[in-house]
Amino acid sequence: MAGIMLNNVAKRYGKELEYSVKNFNLDIDDREFLVFLGPSGCGKSTTLRMVAGLEDITEGEIYIGDTLINDQPPKDRDISMVFQNYALYPNLTVYENIAFGLRIRKVPKHEIDIAVRKAAKVLEIGNFLERKPSDLSGGQRQRVALGRAIVRSPKAFLLDEPLSNLDAKLRGQMREEIVNIHRRMEVTSIYVTHDQIEAMTMGDRIVVMEKGEIQQVDTPEMIYSRPRNMFVAKFIGNHPMNLFEGRIVEEQGILLFISETFKLQLTERQAKMMKKQRVKPTVYIGFRPENVSYEPSFLDSSPLTTINGVLDFDEFVGSDRYYHLLSHNKQKLSVRANLRYRFEEGDKVSVGIDMEQALFFDRDTKELMED
Ligand code: ADP
Ligand code: MG
Repeated sequence: MAGIMLNNVAKRYGKELEYSVKNFNLDIDDREFLVFLGPSGCGKSTTLRMVAGLEDITEGEIYIGDTLINDQPPKDRDISMVFQNYALYPNLTVYENIAFGLRIRKVPKHEIDIAVRKAAKVLEIGNFLERKPSDLSGGQRQRVALGRAIVRSPKAFLLDEPLSNLDAKLRGQMREEIVNIHRRMEVTSIYVTHDQIEAMTMGDRIVVMEKGEIQQVDTPEMIYSRPRNMFVAKFIGNHPMNLFEGRIVEEQGILLFISETFKLQLTERQAKMMKKQRVKPTVYIGFRPENVSYEPSFLDSSPLTTINGVLDFDEFVGSDRYYHLLSHNKQKLSVRANLRYRFEEGDKVSVGIDMEQALFFDRDTKELMED
């Protein structure tokens, strides 16, 4: 049992190259399920591979438990890793693939047998133990790869996009299975993905990364509701947050956000924050599609939070419907539709913003403004 700590870790693949990872500081709790989330190329795999010992650490320190592991060879780190491409031994049976790590550690034969059968039962691959990987489906192969990782009780599990080769339905099933395995085994885990659904549904905490740097470390709820900056605000959410540039202006004692196309009245709390921060007048406002309503009673009760637009694109996604509006100067605004009131493409639609949920970002730093 052990947590993992990264202190000022950085990685550069060559002296003449840019840093692939930099200023990476992170404290992972013992038994935590932590997710690295970010676009392709942001340094997720590089960071994971430094923890595993598959890449040298250019700068900084990595600890597993109390042990500094910078110079420890991978086999001494007591880590199990699962990759996107299953990396099974094609000539070995499923049984021998799962047993492999235990055999090289010279675990007694009967103990190996118990461990392999237990892992196979958990993963429901007990019927394929004598098959070769080439006789299995993608999902079954990925289970074997997981089985190989869970037969031991390592100090940590590292999983690098283990589900991205699977079809959508199987991915959903495997998400749940991996979370269940983690609950049962209680091993500190780092899970790498570019898929925000995986991150949101599986992680105790999520590390959002961009260009080799951490943007935010938080619970899924906080990442969604209090994104630290505009990168996180835009990256998270099936439909990105609506973001508009504008000015904070005081008119007859009330504070307003004014853009080219609309005026919105700040809540008391937001007005207080703006006055306290004495910011430059230009900011970004952000609100999610579900924080917009065109229910008549809502519009009547809050005339100063209304935006007028035209329905440009009606997007039906099964459980939900999204209306993408254009304001008169062609700014886009996404709204989660309220199915009691339907509009057609081309209709004029007035919507009200639930200002309690609106966030403001500094125009220059792009960081969330908080009280
Ligand atoms: P991710 O896993 O988030 O997609 P990676 O960690 O694989 O990103 O890559 C981060 C950056 O490091 C990328 O710009 C990538 O091109 C670069 N990189 C990764 N591996 C190597 C390597 N072996 N040599 C040089 N550059 C690399
Ligand atoms: Mg990667």
